[in-house]
Amino acid sequence: MNQRVTLDTPAIEARPFKVYTQRQLDKIEALEKLPEDLRFDMRVVSQVLPFRVNNYVIDELIDWDKVPEDPIFQLTFPQRGMLKPEHFDEIAALMQAEAPAAELKEAVERVRSELNPHPAGQMDLNLPLLDGQPLEGMQHKYQETVLFFPSQGQVCHSYCTFCFRWAQFVGDKDLKFSSNEAESLHAYLAEHKEVTDLLLTGGDPMVMKAKHLRMYLEGLLKPELDHIQNIRIGSKSLTFWPYRFVTDDDANDILQLFRELTAAGKHIAFMGHFNHWKEMDTPVCREAVRRIRATGAEIRTQAPLLKHINDDADQWAKMWKMQVQQGMIPYYMFAERDTGARHYFEVPLVKAWEIYREAMKQVPGLCRTARGPSMSADPGKVEIQGVTEIQGEKVFVLRFIQGRSSDWVQRPFFAKYDEEATWLNHLKPAFGEEKFFYEDEFAEMKAEKQALIVKA
Ligand SMILES: *Cc1c(COP(=O)(O)O)cnc(C)c1O
Repeated sequence: MNQRVTLDTPAIEARPFKVYTQRQLDKIEALEKLPEDLRFDMRVVSQVLPFRVNNYVIDELIDWDKVPEDPIFQLTFPQRGMLKPEHFDEIAALMQAEAPAAELKEAVERVRSELNPHPAGQMDLNLPLLDGQPLEGMQHKYQETVLFFPSQGQVCHSYCTFCFRWAQFVGDKDLKFSSNEAESLHAYLAEHKEVTDLLLTGGDPMVMKAKHLRMYLEGLLKPELDHIQNIRIGSKSLTFWPYRFVTDDDANDILQLFRELTAAGKHIAFMGHFNHWKEMDTPVCREAVRRIRATGAEIRTQAPLLKHINDDADQWAKMWKMQVQQGMIPYYMFAERDTGARHYFEVPLVKAWEIYREAMKQVPGLCRTARGPSMSADPGKVEIQGVTEIQGEKVFVLRFIQGRSSDWVQRPFFAKYDEEATWLNHLKPAFGEEKFFYEDEFAEMKAEKQALIVKA
């Protein structure tokens, strides 16, 4: 008798969304079993770094028997080591002394300002101009791709402890990018025929209601925006709230919108952020993936490599294999960016490359679409291609995956080997050179952009 494969999907029950922020840390029942000092540490760190978690993460993703080492616990809950000792001690002392709120606030803000809240020129160098006016809520760094931060999408279903956009979430309005101007987005894109990709980001655009998402995306079907071929949506919702695509009130409206856009010839590239295979191992996540792909959208995946969460080749190999089996396409492995709690999460570049290589060795070619380890640095995305020896000198081989100048892309260049380096600015040119090949041109570009912004 023929064995028939059926694709019956499991019945997924709706789950009411319950979110906890810094003020509700003490209300999370699962934490009650943890030692008091650990809970105090969390209260201290969450004064400085954003905290937000929900019931799905707590009930389904974290293995509480493995806390504090559990990777999803590390991904979402504040840990003492995320602040430098001097910062931790200062905030802890103020809290223990029950210092006046204003004094605590002043210290918290000072500590935040010391954590490089805006890495890689995000506040000025990437700012697009429309009729000479800077456009809030957008970034245009690489020729083909515009980043858009819809104002209704500037939170997430839960926050990652390592987030490089952490400064957006700590309540300082000046530090936020966001925009509710669908019109100026569309006007800017209409003027820029070199742009093929619109990347919605945040926060998480998938916290938006379907009707808001539609407001931004439907307009892309206008003939003057035919050059926008790809709509990319950067999102952690498959990890933090896959119900968004399954049981939420407007889940079907989201899928319907994706279907309309793909039917009209746009490519929807859903950029799913996954740090660990555990995040995609629940029935509701599998079902969300299946539903998104059934609309004609593709899911590509990306994540930084992080100590305490995923600094392990077997984990990456398993994650990439699971992704490919579910029909997702591995896209990037990033190096942790130079902001926030980076000292806690960073991995030396040489170790990152070894993990990448060891993971690649274990997977079929379909998984080897993931590029990396890549640093999203000021001049562009720089990939560590490997470590080798040339004429007796041990070097890193590097290349731009993306550059502020497209002419920099794909040219191999070399840096002195450095066992401790964790970021581009730690690297020195190899072979006695004074500068990397792009540095003069980059300095000129910066000066030009600065002049434009001053004029505007
Ligand atoms: C990564 C990134 C992009 C997208 O680059 P791709 O190479 O197309 O994936 C666009 N803008 C910024 C600012 C980025 O960091």
